Amino acid sequence: MKYYSMNAAEVLSDLRTTADGLSAAEAEKRLAEHGRNKLAEAKRDGPVKRFFKQLADPMIIILIVAAVLSGVTSVWEGEPPTDVFIILFIVILNSVLGVIQESKAERAIDALKEMTAATSKVIRDGELRHVKSEVLVPGDVIVLEAGDAVPADARLIESASVKTEEAALTGESVAVMKGVDPITSDGDVPLGDRTNMVYMGGTVVYGRGKAVVAATGMETEMGKIAHALTLAKDEATPLQKKLASLSRVLTVAVLAICVFMFVFGVIRSGTVNAEVMINTFMLSVSLAVAAIPEGLAAVVTIVLSIGVTKMSKRNAVIRRLTAVETLGCTQVICSDKTGTLTQNKMTVVEEYTENRELLARAMTLCTDSEIDREGIVTGEPTENALVAYGASLGLFKYDLERETPRCGEFPFDSERKLMTTYHPDGDYGYIGYTKGAPDELLERCDRYLTSEGERPLSEDDKKRILSENKRMADGALRVLAAAYRETDVVPTEMDEGERGLCFIGLCGMIDPVRPEVADAVAQCRGAGIRVVMITGDHIDTAVAIGQKLGMLKDRSGALTGAELDLISDEELTDTVEKYSVYARVKPEHKVRIVSAWKKRGMICAMTGDGVNDAPSIKSADIGVGMGITGTDVTKNVADMILADDNFATIVGAVDEGRRIYSNIRKAIQFLLSSNLSEVLGVFVATVLGFRLLLPVHMLWINLITDSLPALALGMEPSEEDSMKQPPRSSKEGLFSGGVGFDVIYQGILVSVITLAAYFIGHRMEAGVWEIRNSPDGMTMAFMTMSMAEIFQSFNMRRRRGSIFTMKKQNLWLWGAAAVALVLVAAVIYIPPLANAFSFTSISPIEFLTALGLSVLIIPAVELVKLIERAITKKRG
Ligand code: ATP
Repeated sequence: MKYYSMNAAEVLSDLRTTADGLSAAEAEKRLAEHGRNKLAEAKRDGPVKRFFKQLADPMIIILIVAAVLSGVTSVWEGEPPTDVFIILFIVILNSVLGVIQESKAERAIDALKEMTAATSKVIRDGELRHVKSEVLVPGDVIVLEAGDAVPADARLIESASVKTEEAALTGESVAVMKGVDPITSDGDVPLGDRTNMVYMGGTVVYGRGKAVVAATGMETEMGKIAHALTLAKDEATPLQKKLASLSRVLTVAVLAICVFMFVFGVIRSGTVNAEVMINTFMLSVSLAVAAIPEGLAAVVTIVLSIGVTKMSKRNAVIRRLTAVETLGCTQVICSDKTGTLTQNKMTVVEEYTENRELLARAMTLCTDSEIDREGIVTGEPTENALVAYGASLGLFKYDLERETPRCGEFPFDSERKLMTTYHPDGDYGYIGYTKGAPDELLERCDRYLTSEGERPLSEDDKKRILSENKRMADGALRVLAAAYRETDVVPTEMDEGERGLCFIGLCGMIDPVRPEVADAVAQCRGAGIRVVMITGDHIDTAVAIGQKLGMLKDRSGALTGAELDLISDEELTDTVEKYSVYARVKPEHKVRIVSAWKKRGMICAMTGDGVNDAPSIKSADIGVGMGITGTDVTKNVADMILADDNFATIVGAVDEGRRIYSNIRKAIQFLLSSNLSEVLGVFVATVLGFRLLLPVHMLWINLITDSLPALALGMEPSEEDSMKQPPRSSKEGLFSGGVGFDVIYQGILVSVITLAAYFIGHRMEAGVWEIRNSPDGMTMAFMTMSMAEIFQSFNMRRRRGSIFTMKKQNLWLWGAAAVALVLVAAVIYIPPLANAFSFTSISPIEFLTALGLSVLIIPAVELVKLIERAITKKRG
């Protein structure tokens, strides 16, 4: 249907709707008929395919080959192939867990996406409602405003200077002016020229309008070109990338060691036959098993996804996983004032005028807010305050609108900081009311309204008005001015319509700061994070609020947009650390401020809500969108969205980001040191000529006594001084800050303890010290290493501090330790399992000896931490 060639009435009747929209019942019926308004999604892999993908890992393949080989030898020798079953069981369990964690992480991300799903403003049953864009149907009448993403293909029926950007469809990035007139043409009109249609995938960059939905979902132009929405794959976070490259290095190293061990074993045995080959092969495999931290990738993914779910409960919705890590490195937070530092609950508390009646009328008519008979206001807070102010003087917007309905407008934008509406007026034909920032408005006035009537605006008047403005602003009030102009035609050009005005007066409104923000700002200071306020408001208002929040001492720490225009980018980079408050800025200034901080090498977070904030949000290291007041455009480019628009939420998220990163690092350190201890132990044993542990033993340790506590470490609460430390450097490597050293010495400690247990175990049974294969030694080594890992996981709770002075307990870790202990005991004490694992029976004395040896890891690590602390203190 060529809706663009019809007039609005024809379109409405063709779609069986009216300018007042559909009824809810009809919309529901149409939804069943047309389906949801969304693009089809690309198919995801099913569980079976995912399972096999998990198996396609080089190390897993080596394991499977080893299992098969050892099975064949067992059958050859007439023994039951127990090893095969155990290895296959562990491999399958590992893959199943992999599939489960992958789906869990996916579900967590899906839930976050659901929370940030697009919504639309639609008129149903004659009322304006906010609904998920998914439920729009053809015939719905939608309201579009600057910053909205166009939710479906629609024909405009009302347009106040609507401009849209449709690059996704037309490739043209310049915004197009949209109107309501039908387009007549003999042939087909190309998409980009259909100036009365808006399309899914486009965004409204200016103005306000109404449109009737013509096509939804796959029926839209977007649906026709994008047959399926390619799932945006979450890119790997820096940490995940580092881990991926670490495991590549590990795989190569392990393969090299395996080959070496194999050749070494064969040469040492002096003969080459099948038995020797298979034995040495199994030995190399056990080393490979020892070296590969099977649970590593899974632990990181799970901790990240649990972390983002937790953050979303604290109102910080992460849109890109990478943001979680960057958050912990944040050094500067640039925040909007209105709504983020303040409550965005405005109330007019002061006025300055000689004609109160006209001031209230102008302020009320020149708004898009509505007020009902009960005095309930809906709309943008600044404007809500103004209609409420009018109502308090007996001027209700609906009465005024009925008398003098709006017949033209220039919508508000944060560039010029003004808004104008036109209304019929007895004497001249029309009257235009303009309201906005006093400094901007005053420049466009040449007359002044006194109680006796108009007079030319004198320099004295200007000075007086500006000093009144300053007085109110110094009291932290947001000040808006109003003016009017009578005219016989409604102007179509903004320059023409907003000049030669007559000044009416000022309204000062209070917007209380959020009570929790002062604390959050102080917390940032303690955490080495700089807070910067960026606002469109007047400099005096901004400074007054900044002072209340403890952000700056006086005006010298503040800069206005006009002052910013006078300095070059280089100068700004040099001086940026001086300023904590920027006032009367335009959206493009924000990009300059972010770049200046970034050029100083700082990790910078930036909030934004307006239609023009997208570039600065994009250029920040962490773009923060506003859940309540934010436009679709900004939300779509943000890395994180604040569900409550609250500055304190950002600070909470930074804390959480620090916690998640530090916990992941603890888990990595724990797993790697454990693998190292296995490798060292097996290596020493091989060189000395005995078997310390079998591959299945190490698989069991890696899967049970390592993965469970590692996951629990991911749930550690923040270390007490987490927000008293300066931010971590974003360039920091996985092993920096002594982590590499910790991994190595802790790995050595556990392997020494395990080797000792082996010899003691053998000596207790055989009564002699000797180096030889010993099932008792192996059983003791297994017990000791498993339990040492469990104790070691408690050591990991703090990097440097003693674990005995910690106030908070991690119940997850206690739980994981208990489960791991039970499972270790199970394979030792349940006879069929013990047989399968080739364990011998254990006496209570032996058990206590193993326990005593393994617990040694705690005092040993405490001692090293003590020395580390002493060294740090001495240095400085
Ligand atoms: P912040 O940047 O701190 O969040 P803000 O987003 O409210 O502040 P803008 O919305 O850009 O900043 O407003 C800048 C200035 O424009 C305000 O100080 C006010 O003088 C004026 N202004 C704000 N809203 C309106 C409006 N609806 N009509 C006319 N002028 C307005």
